Amino acid sequence: MYQVLEDVVPYLPQNKPTYLMGVGTPENILEAVDRGVDFFDCVLPSRNGRHAHVYTSAGKLNLMNAKHKTDDSPIDPKCDCPACRRYSRAYIHHLFKAKEMLAMRLCVLHNLHFYNTMMEEIRLALDEDRFPEYKKQKLEDFKISGK
Ligand SMILES: [Zn+2]
Repeated sequence: MYQVLEDVVPYLPQNKPTYLMGVGTPENILEAVDRGVDFFDCVLPSRNGRHAHVYTSAGKLNLMNAKHKTDDSPIDPKCDCPACRRYSRAYIHHLFKAKEMLAMRLCVLHNLHFYNTMMEEIRLALDEDRFPEYKKQKLEDFKISGK
């Protein structure tokens, strides 16, 4: 995908936005922005949220894992979304185990907030001409491998 973007994006009109459909992970988005993509749409934050997979400033978590059963911390201590301000990982873990719809709603809410916040940060970094540094730091923080 990255090679195709490098091959194609330079030939697209510069005065129009470049859209990449169905992408992707936070790493995919950072890499695609670096190759000239302007906007995206993707089911990943909502689909993953419905399966207890949440994105955080330190990487991806699965709230169904037993280690979250008694974890009183929020999904992401650095996040200010309503799910992180009000609920613990342990409570959301319990909601998933009890098959309560609220579990999915809280994780989707958090993931969409995470993606929206990252896109705001990307736009600011581009405006301030420091996107390469932002991308490098973000990828180090995530410790993600594109999965
Ligand atoms: Zn959150």
